[in-house]
Amino acid sequence: MPHSRTEAGRALLLDDARFDRHCPPGHHPERPERLTAARAAIDRSEVRFARVPPRMATDEELARVHTPRYIDKLATLRGQHGYLDPDTYVSPESVDVARLAAGSLVAMVEAIVGGPIAKGVALLRPPGHHARPAQAMGFCLLNNVAVAAAHARTLGMARVAIVDWDVHHGNGTQEMFWREPGVLYLSTHQFPFYPGTGDVDEIGEGDGKGYTVNVPLAAGGGDGVYATAFERIIVPVLSAYAPELVLVSAGFDASASDPLAGMDLSAEAFGWMARALARVADASAGGRVALVLEGGYDLAALTSGLTCAVRGMLDETATELPRAPDDQGVERAAAAAKKAWAIVE
Ligand SMILES: [Zn+2]
Repeated sequence: MPHSRTEAGRALLLDDARFDRHCPPGHHPERPERLTAARAAIDRSEVRFARVPPRMATDEELARVHTPRYIDKLATLRGQHGYLDPDTYVSPESVDVARLAAGSLVAMVEAIVGGPIAKGVALLRPPGHHARPAQAMGFCLLNNVAVAAAHARTLGMARVAIVDWDVHHGNGTQEMFWREPGVLYLSTHQFPFYPGTGDVDEIGEGDGKGYTVNVPLAAGGGDGVYATAFERIIVPVLSAYAPELVLVSAGFDASASDPLAGMDLSAEAFGWMARALARVADASAGGRVALVLEGGYDLAALTSGLTCAVRGMLDETATELPRAPDDQGVERAAAAAKKAWAIVE
C-alpha cells in the first residue's frame, strides 16, 4: 500500500539545535529555553511532522529585504559578544544562527510551494519582525518572515500575506513591504506600545497603499477583542486579497501571563486565530500556511499557545471565542481599513 500523506507527515517542521546557540550574556527574555517550550508544544500536539532540512540564507536571499551594507556589518560581528541596541544582543554564533533561521525558513517556503505538504511550523530564533532593512532591533537580527515572503515572490507567488499576531507591531516587516502590493501585511498589536509604530493611518505608499493594515488594540484586550478584530478586519481583508501563501508572524506574547506585554489572550485564542487563517489559506492558497515563531516570553504560555495554534492550523475545529462588538480599538481600525477594503464594515 502506498504511503498516504498522513503517514509521511501532516505538516512540515523547521527546527535545529543550533538555534539554541544564540545566547544572551545574562538574564534576557529572548533566551534558548523559549525553544524548549516551543518543542514541548510540538510534542504535545501529537501531529506527525516531516522535517525541513535547515540551511543558511544566501546574501542574495537576505538582500531582497536587507541592505548589503547591513549584511556586511552583521558578518563583522561573528565571534563577538555585544549589544546592537539596548535590547538586542549578539553572542559569538548569533550571526550564523540568524542566517540559519532565515535560510531554513526559505527552505520551508520552497517545500510548501513545491508540495505536497502545504502547512508548516517554524521554531526559530532569533525572532525577526522588528529587524529593519539596515538595523537590528527588538531582539531581531534578520527578518525571517520578510526574507521568506520575498523568496516566495521569486517562486511565482503573486500574492503573499503576512499576518502578524505578535503583541508588538512588526515595524521591520511593514517597512520592507511598504510599497509592495505583492505582500499584504496585516498586524494586530498592543498600542501604544513598543516599537511605537502600527497606528491605523500606516497603510503603505505608492503601489503598496492599502496593502499594510494595522489593528492597534488597547492594553488589556482579550479573546473577544481579537476574535472581533479577526472577524471584522483580518479575515475579510485577507480573503479579499486571496493570498497564494499565508505566513504567520506567530508571537505568543499577547498571552495573559506574558511578562513583557499587557494583553489578555488565552491559549485557545491562538488555536481560533490559526484556524481562521488556515480557512482562508484553504480557500485561496491551496492550504499553504506556515506559523513562524516570533515573540512569547512566558514559557508555559508559549507551550500552551503554540500547541493550540498547531492544532487550530491543522484541524477543522477550534474552541469558539466570545466577541467584543463595541471595542473602540477595533472600531477605529475597521473605519480606517474600510477606506482601502470595501469589504470591511
Ligand atoms: Zn513581540
